Amino acid sequence: MDPRFRFEPTAVPMPEATRREILAAPGFGKAFTDYMLVMRHTAQTGWAEGVVRARAPFQIDPACAVLHYAQEIFEGMKAYRTPDGGAALFRSGANARRFADSAERMAMPQVPEELFRSAVCALVEVERDWLPDIGQGSLYLRPFMFASEAFLGVRPAAEYLFVIIASPAGAYFKREAAGLSLWVSDSYIRAAPGGTGAAKCGGNYAGGLAAQAEAARAGCDQVLFLDAVERRWVEELGGMNVFFVFDDGSLATPPLSGTILPGITRDSLITLARGCGREVREEPYAIDQWRSDAQSGRLVEAFACGTAAVVASIGQVRGAGLEITISGGRPGPVAAELRAALVDIHHGRAPDPHGWFEKVS
Ligand SMILES: *Cc1c(COP(=O)(O)O)cnc(C)c1O
Repeated sequence: MDPRFRFEPTAVPMPEATRREILAAPGFGKAFTDYMLVMRHTAQTGWAEGVVRARAPFQIDPACAVLHYAQEIFEGMKAYRTPDGGAALFRSGANARRFADSAERMAMPQVPEELFRSAVCALVEVERDWLPDIGQGSLYLRPFMFASEAFLGVRPAAEYLFVIIASPAGAYFKREAAGLSLWVSDSYIRAAPGGTGAAKCGGNYAGGLAAQAEAARAGCDQVLFLDAVERRWVEELGGMNVFFVFDDGSLATPPLSGTILPGITRDSLITLARGCGREVREEPYAIDQWRSDAQSGRLVEAFACGTAAVVASIGQVRGAGLEITISGGRPGPVAAELRAALVDIHHGRAPDPHGWFEKVS
């Protein structure tokens, strides 16, 4: 392991039989591996005390800054099993860069990109046995950072913890095979110009939960957010970007205007689709245009994408006075094709002209 990280073996690793049971049906975000990586930052020491140790609760002072002012950011990435039984990461440098960008936006110290990647690799190496087999899922990695100083004054904290935990993951949505149903909220927005929409911070998610609850009450899977100013332009879901597929074979996705999270899956799919000769436009798309394009047949598919669920077709969009059905409510072939192309690169089963695949062990 990288000498910057100390390894403290756990006295009580998960019994192998229990681990196998978990890996047979991992679900999402409910089972965790044996270890976590922790690093501490203070103004005096910078990043120090890196340790990989048994996953355990933190002792948190009631005045801990994150509990009051929500200085917190995170990343979501995965380690994948390779055909030779090893482990690989996908574009970890892009996660490292985005983590640094999020830190800057939230007035937090940046983890140097190289340190971020080494930390992720260190944990994956220790948790190799927790990778589900190809076709069974992947090992979801959750790097995060929070203000750990006990102080109630409002200013950037003077102490932070950078932590990585890992969780074996199967399918993200229970009904992955069916098309997702989305709820367009009249009441809520996710991000405004100048706000934190492009940062991966916990606060964005907290602010979206009431909208997600509204979607659930309406019987929908996820909320679809429109822009904050005109309430007209499609932005993204609570945690996934969106794409549209048209009858001429072209694709479109909303542009990164500062209110949308710059998804790495989004960026990868743009590159893959263009590589297959498809035109991909990054352009604003209005919700009323979506309705008329679905009616006229110009829009043939829509899908959401992100690391957790990869690619998920959108079957329906509903809202007050709005009901759109896309491709008969069923998953579309372009979404399936792009998903397969991406998953093949994840596992190292396809040529990788862009250098996205990173063997770890
Ligand atoms: C993480 C996230 C995404 C997807 O990003 P990926 O890098 O593709 O996983 C999209 N939207 C939001 C709001 C997110 O937090």
